Amino acid sequence: MAQTYIQWKSAYDLGKLYQICQRERRIIYIQPLDDFPDFILDFKLSFHSAPTDFFSLLSHYCRVFFCGIDVEVLPKIDICKKEWNIKKRHHPTTNKEQLLVTDFETTLQSILPVNGLCILGIIWTDLYPSEDLNFVLGQAFFNHKSGIFCFGRFEPKTFDEATSRDISVVDANLIWKLLKVICHETCHLFGLSHCEFFSCLMNASSSVVEALSQPLFLCPVCLHKLQEVCQFNICTRYLEIQDLLKEIHSQFPHERFSQSLSWLEKCLEFLNEK
Ligand SMILES: [Zn+2]
Ligand SMILES: [Zn+2]
Repeated sequence: MAQTYIQWKSAYDLGKLYQICQRERRIIYIQPLDDFPDFILDFKLSFHSAPTDFFSLLSHYCRVFFCGIDVEVLPKIDICKKEWNIKKRHHPTTNKEQLLVTDFETTLQSILPVNGLCILGIIWTDLYPSEDLNFVLGQAFFNHKSGIFCFGRFEPKTFDEATSRDISVVDANLIWKLLKVICHETCHLFGLSHCEFFSCLMNASSSVVEALSQPLFLCPVCLHKLQEVCQFNICTRYLEIQDLLKEIHSQFPHERFSQSLSWLEKCLEFLNEK
């Protein structure tokens, strides 16, 4: 059943989350987990002439998307050294290592700083949701204020030995994918369910390809929910997103970024006419 604004609001207030985030909890934490390839660590994008690294780009985008809430990147954690008990397996077709996504639920919550609204783990290694399922791009655990997503590899569902390769470069496609997934999963951590009203960032998807075909932005119903959490001015937020997306698009041009920028332009025109 579609989650209306009223339904979301009553669940959100009931959880007392509203009061918590109004007081001291105002930070979204991004937690890199385990190692990342050198091309990720060496990545640089210039933002208003200042060099921005990979994780700073993600946190910067989250800061404008969740306008009004701060975002911080925590120092990388090595799962083995921390002795986190995360179940592993090798995918039967791809033979790639995969980690059980649900094992991160309470583990990540246990390291959430006291001023944190939620914590989102980022990992290179594949994740899987249960023994009978192939792969999951990410999962958010609303009750535990924690979520995680992976991005290193192809999707085993579409695995083809001849053509499937691990990601080997940070390009426009990867940036698009990451911005979408990080915001989608974080919205779940604010209690937003999948959207059935309009074409929206919060639409459900059954494959990576489907997820990537959906928009980067929220529909009016989901935006209303997020505005209640973040208390932003819609114009200010769109202008900040536009500013960052223009920088990204100028260095990593992609049709999807130009479509998103045209959409933002139209929204801002409409809002300024009122
Ligand atoms: Zn989702
Ligand atoms: Zn929506």
